[in-house]
Amino acid sequence: VLASRLRTLVAEGVLARVPGDAGHDEYELTAKGLAVRSVLRELMAWGDEYYSPRGPRRVFLHAADDGALDHLGRCESCGETVAAADTIIAPGPGFEARGRRTDLVTTAVGRPHRLLEPVRDQVASTAGREQAPD
Ligand SMILES: [Zn+2]
Repeated sequence: VLASRLRTLVAEGVLARVPGDAGHDEYELTAKGLAVRSVLRELMAWGDEYYSPRGPRRVFLHAADDGALDHLGRCESCGETVAAADTIIAPGPGFEARGRRTDLVTTAVGRPHRLLEPVRDQVASTAGREQAPD
């Protein structure tokens, strides 16, 4: 199912397939893929409003000054509209860790990280600095 969806996203120009480490191809967002960010952010805000009574599941921050971003991607600290690469996504008050899964993706999305940063880089940058709680 995942392979089929990835093929569709590449065919539609939302993702590009690029050579990665160790001979494996990786996927990168194209300009068309980045353009859907504002739509996804609105859907996330809608879901948090109606399905997350403890607050947003994810929060977005400006990497330069840790200012919170509003639903349009504007920093509430400096007023800048922040690019995806300069955005930190972090677990919010409504975030719920999913069980004891320790795979790379589950671990990566459960802690603050820059948007567009590959999961393998997030894992490498924190290896040895912290232990996952049991
Ligand atoms: Zn800012």
